[in-house]
Amino acid sequence: MSELLPTSLPLSGSASGAAAEAVRRPLHLPFEDVAERHEAVLFDAYGVLVDASGALPGAAEAVQYLLDRDRPFLVVTNDASRSPARASARLMRLGIPVSPEHVMSSGMLIGPALSALGMAGESVVVLGTGDSAQYARDMGAVVVAPSVQTPARAVVIADEGGFDGLDSMDELLSMILAACEAGRPPHLLLANPDLVYPASAGRFGFTAGSLAHMLERALHLLLGDSAPRFTVLGKPAALHFDTALRRVGTRDAVMLGDTLHTDIAGAAGVGIASALLLTGVTTQAHVDAAVTRGDGGQVPTYVVRGLIKTA
Ligand SMILES: [Mg+2]
Repeated sequence: MSELLPTSLPLSGSASGAAAEAVRRPLHLPFEDVAERHEAVLFDAYGVLVDASGALPGAAEAVQYLLDRDRPFLVVTNDASRSPARASARLMRLGIPVSPEHVMSSGMLIGPALSALGMAGESVVVLGTGDSAQYARDMGAVVVAPSVQTPARAVVIADEGGFDGLDSMDELLSMILAACEAGRPPHLLLANPDLVYPASAGRFGFTAGSLAHMLERALHLLLGDSAPRFTVLGKPAALHFDTALRRVGTRDAVMLGDTLHTDIAGAAGVGIASALLLTGVTTQAHVDAAVTRGDGGQVPTYVVRGLIKTA
């Protein structure tokens, strides 16, 4: 598990002293060639398979390509708002043949992380949807609303939806402060560290990670360096990648994503290959800038212009 990092910081790779060190430029290859070079494929969802308007071109064909060849693959997504069954149903409705066992969401890391902290039978606040809270209930935690009188033992920020925004955040901040004053700071977990999402053309929304940043800032202001920090579960955290790699049964995998600081940096952090899709939030200019900076951690192994070409 890694600590919450501002997105402006590269997660891995050493920018320091690397100016003279040449960073290898990514290979431009079609999806099929990238897939043939590795034993398993990890897909990001948003910006790779789907966007706000629905399925992206070639997404269904790319998944079918791997199914036809019996190749291991997973959809590795920071979306902690849906169970694997619901995530699969949504992709299937869009014509992308991803079954529940091919979903590896950051939400699925909530249960094991709470278990590791001994939270079975303990009170836990979960910000997110009903599915987000179910991940905590399934491991035996008692999901509660934030309360200053009886602070919970852990807080999970899973999703920005499913609760009443700033009122819940006020309660949560007050609860965490009360718990710290009583000498029992709660464990803080962040399932989805994404900060913003593209909602539709020209429109953006805050994502769960922004809420965690807001809380961390406020806690630090009020408590100083002793303030509790969030542990990140989802991409770019190594936990998410390592869990996915165990599930596909090989570390010879390639992560296909559209975001440098989560998909590409996270893959580099665990030493696997990555492919940047130019169908989401990142452009070739961003890649060129990372190469020029000598920031190898944010330079993908491959650049793929789009998934399988459709007629
Ligand atoms: Mg994405």
